[in-house]
Amino acid sequence: MHRLESNILHHAKKQREQRKYFINDVLNAGYNINPLTCLNCNSQEVTFNQHLNDAYCSECGTWQDESIK
Ligand SMILES: [Zn+2]
Repeated sequence: MHRLESNILHHAKKQREQRKYFINDVLNAGYNINPLTCLNCNSQEVTFNQHLNDAYCSECGTWQDESIK
């Protein structure tokens, strides 16, 4: 297989596998996306708080916005 073609296929496969959303995806989109993945422990027990514009992981207790600053 051509190397470039192989890379594209690999990339497409990777994107399908990585259906994970993080706090920055929500902030960029401007609306809530579920489920969110924790930046710290990779758990999906993450709840977005619209008032604080931040999300909290109930698994490890990390506020997601702090993790990306
Ligand atoms: Zn966590």
